[in-house]
Amino acid sequence: MKILFVYPKFKKYLETNPKILEAINFPLYAGFKTTPSLGIPILAALTPDEHEIHFADGNLEEIPYDTHFDLVCINCFTPQARAAYEVGDKFKERGVLTVMGGIHPTNMPEDAKMHCDAVAIGDGETIWTQILEDAKLGKLKPFYKAEVPFNMENYVLPRRDLYKNKNGYDWKPLLIQCIRGCDYRCAYCAIPSAHGGCFRFRPIKNVMNEIEQNLDLEGLFIAEDQFLIPEERIEKYAFEFFNALKSLGYKKKIFLNCSTLLNPNPKLLNLVREAGVESVYLVMGFDPISVNAVSFNKPQTAERNIKMLRDAGIDIFASVGVGLDVDNADIFKRHIDFLERNNIKHVEFWILTPFPGSPTWNDFKKKGRILTENFDFYNGAHTVFKPKKMSVEQLDEGFLYLWKEFFTRNPLKPEDAAKYYNMTDEYLMAHGLKKV
Ligand code: SF4
Repeated sequence: MKILFVYPKFKKYLETNPKILEAINFPLYAGFKTTPSLGIPILAALTPDEHEIHFADGNLEEIPYDTHFDLVCINCFTPQARAAYEVGDKFKERGVLTVMGGIHPTNMPEDAKMHCDAVAIGDGETIWTQILEDAKLGKLKPFYKAEVPFNMENYVLPRRDLYKNKNGYDWKPLLIQCIRGCDYRCAYCAIPSAHGGCFRFRPIKNVMNEIEQNLDLEGLFIAEDQFLIPEERIEKYAFEFFNALKSLGYKKKIFLNCSTLLNPNPKLLNLVREAGVESVYLVMGFDPISVNAVSFNKPQTAERNIKMLRDAGIDIFASVGVGLDVDNADIFKRHIDFLERNNIKHVEFWILTPFPGSPTWNDFKKKGRILTENFDFYNGAHTVFKPKKMSVEQLDEGFLYLWKEFFTRNPLKPEDAAKYYNMTDEYLMAHGLKKV
């Protein structure tokens, strides 16, 4: 079969809310292009050689609607959903078999099904072979559900060659996956409903093999925030992972996500630093600790954790969410005070997004609090629900106040701009940070 994988376009945070750029006095880059998530490269790796594979990224190029394909496979997360549905509709109109998978179709299968022939629910690895066999016979079932969680021992190396030589990406780090699923049930998170409510670990040897095979890429991006959760199995895995990374002598920049729900074990944090992590992307807003930290004036645990990171020599880029049900109109000032008190100098802000599949989505839907299901706006830059303790206008204004107030108090230095933020080429060149 001739198969087309499609990674649909999505509107970036700053593209959908230009008021953020008006609130600050530096040119954050609105249109940066990231390489695709791992779903498509993994399915491509699992596709037998008898099939001919093509790939189109809607963020970079036109979708080839008028070329003949036997099967179109669309992978999407929620901000891509509207574009994904459009791609599905257009290929269906042309009589092409279409299948949709990824975190959004997994969490909203009935919605996705209106725009494709089949929806893949859950881990693609366990159902892809069946989908291909059925597509070959021209008979896709409406839903394919991964009944048994994929065994991470069998993780295949994603086929990055699909996009490595495409022009237009300006995101170079190697995105790797180590953990799937999560034992926690943070109210605003859609991961447990999509990947299962239980940690599954990829063998360290398998991960290191992938890193070693991609040493040409500029840095490493570990997106899972579970890595530094204070939990026994995670801690054991994190020790093994960072010890292996240290032994590898990895020298490039490492991006590591975590939340204030952090393991304060100094031995682990020191190892994380020794393995090469200079700073973490610290999400504040999702988890029980950060909800308590600034919303209820019980900041001790979060402040202690921030100190523990610093003591280990790890810098912090904070990611601050607002609009939680515990937040009232005072929250914006409290965040500014919290950031100042903890000497945090690099930050970005977002508005709570009730992603389909999260407990919050289910709750807001039941209570009629969802204001729009235009998923283009589900990117953290918009209020898409009725807040509990303030008005929509107060939340929108408070969000812009955060951007403006923080960067008025902490004017951005050009060298930090290049290190922590996506700036325009014009800005970088004007400050001698990029050659003309
Ligand atoms: S936010 Fe992180 S810790 Fe919480 S449920 Fe999601 S993955 Fe787990």
